[in-house]
Amino acid sequence: MARKIGSRYTAHQILGRGSAGTVWLGEGPEGPVAIKLLREDLASDQELVGRFVQERTALLGLEHPHVVSVRDLVVDGNDLALVMDLVRGTDLRTRLDRERRLAPEAAVAVVADIADGLAAAHAAGVVHRDVKPENVLLDMQGPLGPGGSHRALLTDFGVAKLIDTPRRTRTTKIIGTPDYLAPEIVEGLPPRAAVDIYALATVLYELLAGFTPFGGGHPGAVLRRHVTETVVPLPGIPDELWQLIVQCLAKAPASRLRASELGARLRELLPMLAGMPPLDVDEPDAEQAEDTTEEPAASPAPAGEPVRRRGAVPLVPGAKPADSNRDTHTSMRVPAPDELAGGARGTARAPRASGAPRPGSARNRAAARRRRLALGAGAVALVAAIGVGTWLATGGDEAGADPQDTRNSAPASP
Ligand code: ADP
Repeated sequence: MARKIGSRYTAHQILGRGSAGTVWLGEGPEGPVAIKLLREDLASDQELVGRFVQERTALLGLEHPHVVSVRDLVVDGNDLALVMDLVRGTDLRTRLDRERRLAPEAAVAVVADIADGLAAAHAAGVVHRDVKPENVLLDMQGPLGPGGSHRALLTDFGVAKLIDTPRRTRTTKIIGTPDYLAPEIVEGLPPRAAVDIYALATVLYELLAGFTPFGGGHPGAVLRRHVTETVVPLPGIPDELWQLIVQCLAKAPASRLRASELGARLRELLPMLAGMPPLDVDEPDAEQAEDTTEEPAASPAPAGEPVRRRGAVPLVPGAKPADSNRDTHTSMRVPAPDELAGGARGTARAPRASGAPRPGSARNRAAARRRRLALGAGAVALVAAIGVGTWLATGGDEAGADPQDTRNSAPASP
């Protein structure tokens, strides 16, 4: 079923659906393209259309082998469409779902690609703000890289910032994943380039471990962990690689590496990682997985019962998005105080080396720790909510960015 988009493009078939709309395989004057047709409610929002047109230059300006370029912007009747480079492949979330964990060499190769793409964006004054596996596309038609990895490209630049207005956030109650959210955002500081580094280090950890370092449970608990918890080492990970992850997950944005340095340091590690199998890391305990409304279970999931992957968690208990994994954290609604109280029940967890005893005692320690944390968590979660709320209320603008520091600046408006 072909569909005309503006006067220059034809959409032929659906490639995928995301939170913001549907992505089509299309044809333009210069050949095949991907066309992201924004959801009707977004496309009919005059203010949003205005913002897209205003940011046109920033959206169209990025050209890099590891960035999905936006080629054109079409505003036509009820249609608002982004015309992008076509990437023949899949997204990183799909690959991760299929393989559970990547071998370190492949994981590092993918993340080094994205770090290079981010370096170009940051040099141009653009902060992505929504780095996560869903926004990494893998080009499966190009040549294979280290560890059999496909070239990785970062997509959706600038889109989160344009779409996620405070007004929409309040009215649509979209849910999202706070797993990749840097602590400074939780604390209400403007999102600068270092938030992308934090999110990318979270992705690297997830590719290696099969779960994110601070995810799981109530979103209030996830926000709290970003601010207060230290990342737990992954068993068997080479120390040089671990040190890079730790540095890029630093709570202080200034302590994180810049994207260009991260890319270079990761590539230096590739020869050492060649042939290394995926890390042998156990899934987090079932009691800690995806518990959003209940008290943590007293015992792990029964044998044979799959432990669900961490991912998007509803900020409103019971909320069911069309596709929760595809939502963006920048769409989060600030949890109400009673919801935040539930946040204190969320759990942090340490990965356990395979073969090590499943420690009942460790669970007891964790429970005691949870009780201690519960006292402080309500307060921290409240601060977190105020921080996120402030950020949303300001539209997440990079106000206050040092214009001398391109890492930290917002996209230049045309
Ligand atoms: P959203 O950001 O709105 O959640 P996505 O950008 O993730 O939506 O797009 C949804 C799906 O469409 C992706 O998972 C991917 O399969 C496909 N897709 C997105 N962009 C492209 C592209 N440039 N080329 C090919 N497929 C794409």
